[in-house]
Amino acid sequence: MQHPKEVADLKRFDIPPVLTGFIDGRPVPESASAEIVTCIAPSDETELLSLHEADANEVDAAVSAARRAFDSGPWPRMSVDERNRILRQIRDKIIEHADELAYLESVNVGLPIRNVKTVHIPRAARNFEFFAEVASQATGEVYTQTRPYLSYVTREPVGVGGLIGPWNYPLGLGTMKIASCIAFGNTCVIKPSEYAPLSLTRAMELIHETDIPPGVINLVNGRGHVTGEALTGHPGVDVVSFTGGTVTARAIMRSASAHLKPVAFELGGKSANIVTASADLERALDGSLSTIYLDNGQQCLAGSRILVERSIADEFIQKFVERSRKVRIGDPLSPDTELGPLCYEAHLEKVLSYVGIAQQEGAELLTGGRRSDAFERGFYIEPTAVMAPSNSARVCQEEIFGPFAAFLVFDDLDEAIEIANDSNFGLVAYIWSEDLPTVMRASQGIRAGTIWVNTPTTRDLRAPFGGYKDSGIGRDSARDCMEFFTEAKTTTIPTDTFPITDFGKAQ
Ligand code: NAD
Repeated sequence: MQHPKEVADLKRFDIPPVLTGFIDGRPVPESASAEIVTCIAPSDETELLSLHEADANEVDAAVSAARRAFDSGPWPRMSVDERNRILRQIRDKIIEHADELAYLESVNVGLPIRNVKTVHIPRAARNFEFFAEVASQATGEVYTQTRPYLSYVTREPVGVGGLIGPWNYPLGLGTMKIASCIAFGNTCVIKPSEYAPLSLTRAMELIHETDIPPGVINLVNGRGHVTGEALTGHPGVDVVSFTGGTVTARAIMRSASAHLKPVAFELGGKSANIVTASADLERALDGSLSTIYLDNGQQCLAGSRILVERSIADEFIQKFVERSRKVRIGDPLSPDTELGPLCYEAHLEKVLSYVGIAQQEGAELLTGGRRSDAFERGFYIEPTAVMAPSNSARVCQEEIFGPFAAFLVFDDLDEAIEIANDSNFGLVAYIWSEDLPTVMRASQGIRAGTIWVNTPTTRDLRAPFGGYKDSGIGRDSARDCMEFFTEAKTTTIPTDTFPITDFGKAQ
C-alpha cells in the first residue's frame, strides 16, 4: 500500500542539485575544475545530485581550519558548560528539522522512512546530548600512594579528528563521530560516503545556525581514494576514526601509520544468530527476520548467519521463508515499506552475485535471490535466504551487506559456538534461548564484541560497541570515546620537601 499524501508531504523539502563541502563555518563555493561524482536515487535511478569532490587542496583547507580552531580558537578553551550548551543547541536543531533530515537520508540511501524517523534521526540528536553529558560527568584520577607525591591525571583534547563514515547510516553514525570528537574540546574534519552525502551535508548548515564557532566541524565530500586518502594521510590530523569495510581499514591504517596516528575502526561483520530449541520460537522468528531485513539488511550488525538447532530447523526455516515472502518491498518514503531499494547499483549487483556464488558451492536457494519485478526502476531486491552447505562456504564467511540470510543447522550448543567463532569477523552475535545456562555458555564462548540475548539489535551508547578480529579496533562508548579523543596527562607534585640528588655540590 502506498501513502501518496505522506510521500508528497516529504517531497516538499529541497534537494540541492550540487553538493560541496563545508569549511570554516561556510559552504565551499562550487568549482568549475572539481571532479564531479553523481549520486543516483536508489528508488528510481534518477540523478539525485552532483558532488563536487574535494581534492587534496580542499582537504588541506579543511584541516587547516580545524587546526586553527583547535590551536587558537575558543572551542577547546571554553568551559565544559558552555560547550554543552552548544551541543544541546545542535541536538535541538536536528529535532526541529527531523522530517527534512529523515527525507534526505531515506531518498539518498533507500532506508525505509519508518525506521529513519523513529530510530536514526532521534539517535543523531541524542548523540550530541549524550556526549555533552559524558563530557560534563568526566572524572579524573589522583594517586597518593607514592609519598610524598601526589600525582593527578587530567585528560586533554587530542586535537584534530579525521572522521570517515560509511553510507549505510550517514547521519546516525556521522553525528556519533562528530559528537564524540568535539564534546571533549577537539575539532574535526568529517568525510561522509560519496554514495550518501546528502543528510550530513545539510546537517552542517543546520549545525552552523547554532553558536558553534567556525572551524570546529568541517566537512569534505568526495571518494575514498581521493578525498578520504588526503584526509587520513594529512599531517594536521591527529587521530582517525573510521567506520566502513575491512579492506578500506587496511588502506587507512597504512596511510595513518606515516604519522603514527591512532586509529579507531568500526568494521564489518558476519554475525551468528543462534536459535536454540529452548527459545521462544515466535520471538526468535521475529528477531531473526528483523536482524537481517531491517534497514534493507545494510547493517554491520546484521544476523546474517542463522544457526538453527536441528530439532526445530525445518519448521523454523519454513516459517522464516513464508514471512520473507510477505515482507513489503516499496518506496522508501512510504510509511508502510519494510524493505527499500539497496543504496546503489554496484552494491545491488554485488549482493545478487552471492546467489550464484552460493549455488555454485552447493547452497539451496530458499527464497528471493533476484531483483523485485514489481518495480521497473530502482535497486529493489527480494528478501533472500539460502541453506548453506557448510560454514566454510563464502556465503557464510563474507559480508554481503544486504537482505540475504544464510542458514546452517547445528546439533548442540558447542557446535553452534564453534560455528559462530569460525569467522574472520567478531562484531556481534545473537542467542535465542529461555534456558539461562545455555545463554551464559553462549555469551562466554562466542568471540564477539556484543552478545544480544533474546533481542534483536539494541544499542546502549554507554556500553562498548565494536568488534573482535577483522570487525574493528577499539570500541565506541562513553569511556572508550573519551579515551580515544583525549590525551592523558599526569602531573606529579610533592606534598612535602624531600632530598634531591645534589650533583656538583661536593667541595
Ligand atoms: P567502505 O569501506 O567502502 O567506505 C567507508 C568510507 O571510507 C567511505 O566514506 C569511503 O569513501 C571511505 N574510503 C574508501 N577508501 C578510502 C581510503 N583509501 N582512504 C580513506 N577513506 C576511504 O565502506 P562502505 O561500503 O561505505 O560501508 C559498508 C561497510 O561499513 C560494511 O563493511 C559495514 O559492515 C561497515 N559498517 C560498520 C559499522 C560498525 O559500527 N562496525 C557500522 C556501519 C557500517
